[in-house]
Amino acid sequence: MNRIETNINFIKNNINNACKKINRNPEEINLIAVTKTIDTEQMNAALKMGIKIIGENKVQEIMEKYDKIEYETQWHMIGHLQTNKVKYIIDKVDLIHSVDSIRLAKEIDKRAKKINKIIDILIQINVADEETKFGLSSNKIDNTIKEISDLGNIRVQGLMAMVPYVEDPEVVRPYFKKMKKIYDSLKNSSFQKVSMNYLSMGMTNDYMVAIEEGSNMIRIGTGIFGERDYNR
Ligand SMILES: *Cc1c(COP(=O)(O)O)cnc(C)c1O
Repeated sequence: MNRIETNINFIKNNINNACKKINRNPEEINLIAVTKTIDTEQMNAALKMGIKIIGENKVQEIMEKYDKIEYETQWHMIGHLQTNKVKYIIDKVDLIHSVDSIRLAKEIDKRAKKINKIIDILIQINVADEETKFGLSSNKIDNTIKEISDLGNIRVQGLMAMVPYVEDPEVVRPYFKKMKKIYDSLKNSSFQKVSMNYLSMGMTNDYMVAIEEGSNMIRIGTGIFGERDYNR
């Protein structure tokens, strides 16, 4: 077995264990391979091992890699998205995790309309209210989602969060809990065209805790490909 295959098996095993704890079907957990800084050769290797979703955080990387992927895959934009770059990826991505303003949503809607696409998005929440992180502050969610849900070519499919990086993932469990609460309350709200199908939270360091608290979409980079080399 190669390293990527070993890593993916290890993660799948952990997903199974976390799901067992909470009586949840592991099939419901969407595993995203986060491929920032990772070359297309390694990406193809991961896809060959059964990965179905690729997550990138930069528009540039999606554009460079898009045509070099040999397998059928979904592309997810998981990083901060500038409005002036939406046009480059609107035809390429299946889900945008990082919508955190009405202005960005309007641009996505406009570009989607132009190519006759209904695009799925998640609303990014800055759940720990960190100054250094993007995302809507949790007390602005209702108004923003209401306005975004009026846009014709956007479908809100859930929420995304990044939590602070800490050594011990138990420390961030309360943030995952808080996200699940927001997710459930929106699920029970009556916003039109807003569905809560995906709760995207959990990275290499904390995905098991995230799953225990209700995540059904985890974004794993290091855990699959090893430490990233930003100087390549
Ligand atoms: C890099 C990144 C991840 C994955 O991080 P790892 O710790 O390597 O698993 C997940 N989500 C986003 C938004 C990222 O930018």
